[in-house]
Amino acid sequence: MSEHYKEQLVIIGSGPAAWTGAIYGARANLAPLVIEGVGSRTMIPGGQLMFTTEVENYPGFPEGVTGPQMMSDFRSQALRFDTRVITEDVVSVDFSDRPLSLETNTGKVIETETVVIATGANAQWIGLENEQRLAQSGGGVSACAVCDGALPHFRDQVIAIVGGGDSAMEDALYMAKFAKEVVVIHRRDKLRASKIMQERAFKEERIRFEWNKVVEDVLGEEVIGGVLLKDVSTGKKSELAVGGLFVAIGHTPNTDFLDRQIELKSNGFIKTPTPWRTETSVPGVFAAGDVMDDFYKQAVTAAGTGCMAALEAERWLAHGGLGEV
Ligand code: NAP
Repeated sequence: MSEHYKEQLVIIGSGPAAWTGAIYGARANLAPLVIEGVGSRTMIPGGQLMFTTEVENYPGFPEGVTGPQMMSDFRSQALRFDTRVITEDVVSVDFSDRPLSLETNTGKVIETETVVIATGANAQWIGLENEQRLAQSGGGVSACAVCDGALPHFRDQVIAIVGGGDSAMEDALYMAKFAKEVVVIHRRDKLRASKIMQERAFKEERIRFEWNKVVEDVLGEEVIGGVLLKDVSTGKKSELAVGGLFVAIGHTPNTDFLDRQIELKSNGFIKTPTPWRTETSVPGVFAAGDVMDDFYKQAVTAAGTGCMAALEAERWLAHGGLGEV
């Protein structure tokens, strides 16, 4: 027979938003149940920080901290209080009735009054074997310039950025502060980025563009040495020597398991309609971190929204589902 749980607060996820929500929920005596997820090739419990070598922009760590260490510390802090953890995936939800109901991949049925969804977003990758190998080994390939770009080994190098949206322009402008040259590789001859970001990038002398090009391979054994480019209009291939590669081709929020039972924005992120609130379209369901944040996408902002979601859940429960009065 499948196990049956009856909870006040369930938190789905295991990044900074989830563990911060758990810390606040536990200290409010809600004994939160965290469903932290099982690993897959592209995502492991702990979320995107598990792929980040050095975190230097999270306040409180003057010497920096590795992403995995930081997530291990967040988790330990949550477990110090009354938090329970299940290392499983939520595969389906039923938000049509109360209590809310969730089912995990092993068939556990979890009934709960409130839920915080903090399942994050996966950075999209080009999908090349050598790209993944060097990203996972810290060999100069990353999907987050703000996280990794200031590391010493990227300084005074030629840096490639893939993408043509605002993220790519932002990453290019950010890397131009440290790099000898930044080369934006875009698959078309027009950018998708907003006009203002385009203008800024065009004005920056250290940024140049490779139009109509895609990256076909990432070269280098332990550290990236270059990329193999293909011109999509002529088919011609060429090599570009680089000391770093940042992939900025978008993020996909992890919402498939919700089966559209809560409202999403047109770009797929969870909608939290009220400013400075994390409540979603379903009463008692709150969203925190990268699954709802298509703008800041930082560990510290994720932790902030995790705190907000747990406080809102606590108040929601205190007022018998009537919200704050
Ligand atoms: P985006 O706007 O979806 O742009 C993704 C870019 O990557 C596009 O140029 C796309 O090319 C390219 N791309 C997608 N898949 C690719 C692939 N497999 N190979 C090569 N190129 C590929 O994503 P984003 O730049 O992350 O922005 C997401 C949202 O956040 C946007 O609404 C953006 O405005 C916002 N944002 C704003 C700021 C800011 O205002 N400072 C900063 C960051 C993000 P195509 O153009 O050919 O489709």
